[in-house]
Amino acid sequence: MKTHLLPEYIVERDNARCNKCKICIEQCTYQVHYYKSDEDSVGSRDQNCVNCQRCVVFCPRKAITIRKNPNFYRENHHWTNEAIIAIKKQAENGSVILAGMGCDKPNLTYWDKLLLNASQVTNPSIDPLREPIEIRTYLGKKPQQLEFEFNGEDIVLETELAPQLCLETPILFAAMSYGAVNLNVHEALAKAATECGTCFNCGEGGLHSSLYKYGDHIIVQVASGRFGVSPEYLSVGAAIEIKIGQGAKPGIGGHLPGEKVNEDIAKTRMIPVGADALSPAPHHDIYSIEDLKQLIYTLKEATNYTKPIAVKIAAVHNVAAIASGIARSGADILVIDGVRGATGAAPKIIRDNVGIPIELALASVDKRLRDEGVRNEVSIVVSGSIRNSADVVKAIALGADAVYIGTAALIAMGCTLCQKCYTGKCPWGITTTDPAISKRLDPQEASRRVVNLVNAWSSEIKEMLGGMGINAIESLRGNREQLRGVGLNETELKVLGVKHVGD
Ligand code: SF4
Ligand code: SF4
Repeated sequence: MKTHLLPEYIVERDNARCNKCKICIEQCTYQVHYYKSDEDSVGSRDQNCVNCQRCVVFCPRKAITIRKNPNFYRENHHWTNEAIIAIKKQAENGSVILAGMGCDKPNLTYWDKLLLNASQVTNPSIDPLREPIEIRTYLGKKPQQLEFEFNGEDIVLETELAPQLCLETPILFAAMSYGAVNLNVHEALAKAATECGTCFNCGEGGLHSSLYKYGDHIIVQVASGRFGVSPEYLSVGAAIEIKIGQGAKPGIGGHLPGEKVNEDIAKTRMIPVGADALSPAPHHDIYSIEDLKQLIYTLKEATNYTKPIAVKIAAVHNVAAIASGIARSGADILVIDGVRGATGAAPKIIRDNVGIPIELALASVDKRLRDEGVRNEVSIVVSGSIRNSADVVKAIALGADAVYIGTAALIAMGCTLCQKCYTGKCPWGITTTDPAISKRLDPQEASRRVVNLVNAWSSEIKEMLGGMGINAIESLRGNREQLRGVGLNETELKVLGVKHVGD
């Protein structure tokens, strides 16, 4: 069928600068640039461009500019350009529109409507350069009270503690499966987690055996497809996460196309080479909190009660009630992924319309668990939208113990948020398993960039805590007095549990 779709981007080349080195042709994985031998010049296929910026960065003459196509359809307030493009695409191919990364709608970001406090005169601020500020974080079930005994010489802790994950910073790396990303990405994140004293979640595709040495800094995931799950896999991780749902596609399963399943991925996932890896929407053995409890205790038994067990859910309408059940199910950590959570591939209509913002979900879960006296039964980790250290601090003030970052870690490595991860042609070598393109990501350099990011954020977190006169991150958890809302209505303020600025 002849396409009526307009190119989304226009590639402009300054021919006075271009020396025809053809680097843009080699770097582009979407065949945008091509050499015109009859004219001895380089041309562009605008319709292929996804604005990944690879050619712009690598052009030695800085001759390329990518612009959004100014020839929009005749949009109006209701029929936006995006809505018209979607209809035209589906009229041409009759398919579900896929998208990578997270929901990009403007109306769902509450972090920017929350402002942090700082001390003035009374309760003076603390200078993090001169005084210690503790951001070490322990994830796991906490006792309601501690009992000690004096044995004549020492004070001895009598209370038996549940297994804990000890993190040097409240930032973990979110689940990304081997297959959705390549081994270089996993290696970079595992190295970075080890260097930063935090954890990387290997996602639902198993863990390549070459990364077992980083096991003390890896959370292994058990999802509905049970890919790569074995006694060895469970024993190698520092913690186990049962994935029930994810923010980018609540209520639906996952699909890794067979073309991405090479020999190594097949071996790690324990499936045949070239076979589609389909994760069912539900776990076929979980239909109630009691069923979930059985799986939690099966995993605890399998690992001799030595590791915390996390349960990850998507933020949906009745998230607080679900969280209340999970807190009573024996789980040690509750992970909530908001509507802006990212993924390699999701139906765009689900990514952008199903689920709720993590800020509101977190606030209502923390309140419900506190009201019911079960907040210490689980640590709370949130994900799906964390862009900077202020978002981390705001999440902790709303009740989280720690956050997962996924997109931010990938941007640190090189991702330019083109949202085309599902094509398997990621020009930055991240969400691709093509051996030639995967080589573009050097795990050493990528790991260094992620470590730098976490170190920078950790320093900023200490600055913000010091500014509030708080010397331990534990004292900020759920401390909503340190937050004020701006431009929010009464209901939003009530759910968030924060006052309006000036109040
Ligand atoms: S990379 Fe730059 S200089 Fe080289 S061919 Fe492309 S546009 Fe020309
Ligand atoms: S990971 Fe790659 S394909 Fe996905 S958004 Fe980033 S640059 Fe684009």
